[in-house]
Amino acid sequence: MTSAPTVSPSNDVFTQRAYSASAKSVLARKPALFINNEWVQSTHGATIAVEDPSTGKEVARIADASEADVNRAVEAARNAFDDGRWSHLPPSQRERTINKLADLIEAHAAEFAELEAIDNGKPIGMAAVVDIPGAIGHLRYMAGWASKLGGELMEPQGLPRGTVFSYVSRDPIGVAAQIVPWNFPLLMATLKISPALAAGCTVVLKPAEQTSLTALRLADLVAEAGFPPGVVNVITGNGHTTGDYLVKHPGIDKIAFTGSTEVGKIINRNATETLKRVTLELGGKSPVVVMPDVNVAEVAPNAAGAIFFNSGQVCIAGSRLFAHRSIFDKMIEGISQAASFWQPRPSLDPQAHMGPLVSKEQLDRVMGYIEAGKKDGATVAIGGDAPSANGYYVNPTVLVNVKPNMSVVREEIFGPVVVAQRFDDLDEVAKMANDTCYGLGAGVWTRDVSAMHRLASKIKAGTVWGNCHAIIDPALPFGGFKQSGFGREQGKQGIEAYTELKTVIIKL
Ligand code: NAD
Repeated sequence: MTSAPTVSPSNDVFTQRAYSASAKSVLARKPALFINNEWVQSTHGATIAVEDPSTGKEVARIADASEADVNRAVEAARNAFDDGRWSHLPPSQRERTINKLADLIEAHAAEFAELEAIDNGKPIGMAAVVDIPGAIGHLRYMAGWASKLGGELMEPQGLPRGTVFSYVSRDPIGVAAQIVPWNFPLLMATLKISPALAAGCTVVLKPAEQTSLTALRLADLVAEAGFPPGVVNVITGNGHTTGDYLVKHPGIDKIAFTGSTEVGKIINRNATETLKRVTLELGGKSPVVVMPDVNVAEVAPNAAGAIFFNSGQVCIAGSRLFAHRSIFDKMIEGISQAASFWQPRPSLDPQAHMGPLVSKEQLDRVMGYIEAGKKDGATVAIGGDAPSANGYYVNPTVLVNVKPNMSVVREEIFGPVVVAQRFDDLDEVAKMANDTCYGLGAGVWTRDVSAMHRLASKIKAGTVWGNCHAIIDPALPFGGFKQSGFGREQGKQGIEAYTELKTVIIKL
């Protein structure tokens, strides 16, 4: 296979569009933290730059919360939980308030999509159809659980009937620290707060330092929706400081973290001291298995979408492609053709399908992996380079002739880079798919029902998609096997993760 280098388009196509007046007014705000339904200044005044990844330029600053700020936020959430101002409300009122927040986001959907595009670099069109409706969907789904979550009447097995009355109730855990990554900022923030709030918990949310704008804008709407003070607090800051203080704070009962496996392990260790409840949604290196019976013309563009959507910055990105030997070359050809749809463009370009990566750090990381892959002997089938532009762009990349021990095959790149391998039979590909420390998602493409079920059963992953990829629904549990995390978010299991079971036995 010969390498086909990407032809760089003219620099004009990389010119970012002008920001709207409403976006400019958010960017012009003074850095502040949202505690007790009020905007407050950080105690030490330190700030972090906010960049537009499409230009690499600083566009705003956010607060870098101090330990004292974290203490204030936890105290606010603690008081709001302990006095029952939220958990003791009628569940229907909690449901209405969460739904009101969803309505307010919907009313400001265009503004949120633009902010997300400026802050994260994702195309505004993608944010408008994926991130913002997704955020609203999670809130509305979990709002419904507020009034449906209940306990169970259970009888002891060793006592005569009628001598005791016993039941198991579900109590809200308490104060939740929620730490989210930068790849789907608003979506991750609402995915986190919605089950906690529905269960009656109070929260301190820390968005990623690279992408905090939509979480801060969300905080405005929290107050407007009518949440009592202290129920939702939003603090911005760096992970190793603000995030670390939050994780170690004794006032926190539960930590819900989405991010890298590396940081997930640190958080899990730090939470052990006070035995905080922990759920972790971590990294992935998801396989996409394409069996020989498929229509390659249909499947190749889907396999391309599985890796290039959101510039590959997706925990469930289909970053390891396994195509049957008989269709391998045709699949690579099909993905290469589909890649033209995913040429990177500035995030506010209405025609953009793929934007830049989130930061210079991420650009260097992804390019570093591509270089390491080449050095290790991989061949670039397409891409493998970055267009010459000021933003953090990487061209869609397919690597072939890879070996199982290469870093590009083993490690999560978190960029638009797929490694493609051949296989001969089902058992072999199941083994190859499982040859990873991760287990978040997997895609299987075949019209053979038996092969589909056999692979779904053999592959160790929290979600297996058949003839599709990355469908996420608030009603269906989501989480990882192995080092992709533990616990499940979404669905009934998602809200149960914010509750403690309490057994009550009353002698009659
Ligand atoms: P990251 O782990 O670097 O950071 C995530 C969050 O953790 C940020 O808010 C950061 O400030 C904070 N943080 C960093 N160090 C901390 C510490 N010591 N203590 C407390 N908080 C700390 O991850 P990232 O680079 O922002 O996101 C990319 C990663 O997230 C990828 O590995 C991706 O697979 C994963 N991810 C997983 C899911 C999932 O549902 N499983 C979803 C999206 C992203």
